[in-house]
Amino acid sequence: MATNRTFTMIKPDAVEANNIGSILAMMTEAGFKVVGLKYTQLSEAQAGKFYEVHSARPFYGELVEFMSRGPIVAAILEKDNAVEDFRKLIGATNPAQAEEGTIRKRFAKSIGENAVHGSDSDENAEIEGNFFFSQLERF
Ligand code: ATP
Ligand code: MG
Repeated sequence: MATNRTFTMIKPDAVEANNIGSILAMMTEAGFKVVGLKYTQLSEAQAGKFYEVHSARPFYGELVEFMSRGPIVAAILEKDNAVEDFRKLIGATNPAQAEEGTIRKRFAKSIGENAVHGSDSDENAEIEGNFFFSQLERF
């Protein structure tokens, strides 16, 4: 995957709140092109693997339970400087600290249930994209 791509998920809280369309619109209006898109649900084991880097953190059990409790939308997005620009668009992990105009400011409920995921590096964007998408599913 080229370095102008990032990976995102619309998390179960935002799907439950019927915000898939509004969140995808914020992404595309900010200049991100959808090059892979999937509506699916993670098992607990898959959610645990996806967030394995946080396995020693006190919130890990809660995070795995949350991320597997309902469907998510997974997407690969393309734009110049995708990883950094997308992290700016989603805003701070804790929505109380997220800037106006960010996705988390508008849609996140709490630091745990914060509406969207965004890759934090080009390397992780590639790993995370490969977790969900085959080569035939990206354009
Ligand atoms: P993400 O990786 O989902 O884009 P992030 O990079 O902003 O989020 P991380 O530090 O990677 O934040 O944390 C991963 C996820 O774990 C957070 O998005 C959130 O859902 C959950 N999380 C992080 N910190 C806490 C916390 N203190 N309490 C509860 N859940 C948390
Ligand atoms: Mg993260």
